[in-house]
Amino acid sequence: MKKQKAQAGNRKRDVEIVDLNGKAADKKNGGRRNREFAIVTYVFLALFLCMTGYFVYFVAIESEDFINNPYNARLATMADQVVRGDILSNDGTILATTQIDGNGAEIRYYPYGRMFAHAVGYADNGMAGVELLENYRLLRSNAFILTRIANEVAGKKNPGDDVVTTLDAGLQSACYDALGGYDGAIICLEPDTGKVLAMASKPDYDPNTIAQNWDGYVSDDSGSAVLLNRATQGLYVPGSTFKILTLFAYLQQERGDGGFSFDCSGSFSADGYEMHCYDHTAHGQEDLYAAFGNSCNCAFSSIGLSLDRSSYRQLCEQLLFNKALPANLGNTSVSRMTLDGDANDPLVMQTAIGQGQTMVSPLHMAMLVSAIANDGMLMEPYMIDHVQNENGIVVRQNESRQAGQLMTEQDAKTMQEYLRYVVTDGTGRSLQSDRYNAYGKTGTAEFSSNKNEDHSWFVGYAENADGKRMAVAVVMEGVAAGNAYAVPAARAVFDSYFAQ
Ligand SMILES: [Zn+2]
Repeated sequence: MKKQKAQAGNRKRDVEIVDLNGKAADKKNGGRRNREFAIVTYVFLALFLCMTGYFVYFVAIESEDFINNPYNARLATMADQVVRGDILSNDGTILATTQIDGNGAEIRYYPYGRMFAHAVGYADNGMAGVELLENYRLLRSNAFILTRIANEVAGKKNPGDDVVTTLDAGLQSACYDALGGYDGAIICLEPDTGKVLAMASKPDYDPNTIAQNWDGYVSDDSGSAVLLNRATQGLYVPGSTFKILTLFAYLQQERGDGGFSFDCSGSFSADGYEMHCYDHTAHGQEDLYAAFGNSCNCAFSSIGLSLDRSSYRQLCEQLLFNKALPANLGNTSVSRMTLDGDANDPLVMQTAIGQGQTMVSPLHMAMLVSAIANDGMLMEPYMIDHVQNENGIVVRQNESRQAGQLMTEQDAKTMQEYLRYVVTDGTGRSLQSDRYNAYGKTGTAEFSSNKNEDHSWFVGYAENADGKRMAVAVVMEGVAAGNAYAVPAARAVFDSYFAQ
């Protein structure tokens, strides 16, 4: 066998030799052509693989973002074929729907009008809120295939998918009412999941008539910025709510309360700058709990001066200042804390009590207390629970996501104790309830020399015996004094939520 094979090999070689002798030149040219052909083939194959790869990537990852761009013409085509789906609350209450009038024209209808204005948004003269976030999915139809075929045969539009939000209609109503006639914002988060339970902003608008009133909104010369969602995009002087950060920085630096004690006389001076407590109240001898619970400006000015300024700012950055917030809510503002190592003493004193140059968004403060409530773990805020077809079949389910551990569990538990003290013994006493335990920090932020133009703040959370928890940030603009506004508003919101 072996021998035969060897002979066959020899014969083959003989044939090749004959070939070489006979058509040597042709063979050479043919070889070059084969090589060129092979190169071209490989180049095309490589291109084909790249394009296939990109196509898969585009379909899987990029396409929805691409298509969801409101400037994309494909969305207009989709709107020609699909009736925009509904936006629903977490219990299925309709927040936005499309009605067909007598002439066959589609009208976007918002049954709650102003109450959900900034959260749900609008889809006329541009878009905002959930209408913008989920524009693509509202214009896509996952109706049953037979329904779609029947509609297409009949020349009728298909029903778009419905977007079910995390918004709690009852709580939203409580937030909207709690703001009353004041401009400002209230945002409620579920600390364990990051779900946005409610989000109210004033001044508001009626999304049902936005097209008619558009010119007035965009040329608004009173500066009230009606279309701005103050909960996520507003930036405010934090006032005493910022003492949460100053306290945290101090506890970190001292690795505990450092045996803190301070005798408040109602005023405190350093470097020729005088700080005073609210109404010049002398708080007397205080430990760290009392200084925080009383919201003592003098004690916190002195704490601020004791902090390493660079570390103070770094710690604020660890708590999401000067960076984009990890939130899946569309455009959100970046909170600002700019203190550096060269800052002079008066600026440090002001910063420590939440004046100075620091600015925060209500969303950011709600996220911060949410993380404290959740033992340091921040859950990424989101407001779309799932997308379903017209028959309620879920076609996409969002899961809650961890945004990161903002502080250790032990540090979070320490902060919980200080926030609780504010309610049991401090400026938040009117939040005591049999139905829940509240935690938080009050604040009055001065943003002008006019005493009737302060901002009233409350940020905190509450939990009941069943472990149900809710975090809230309340800011009310242009009020006369702190506790009389934001704290009762927070109380109304907690009462509503824990009555359910
Ligand atoms: Zn004081």
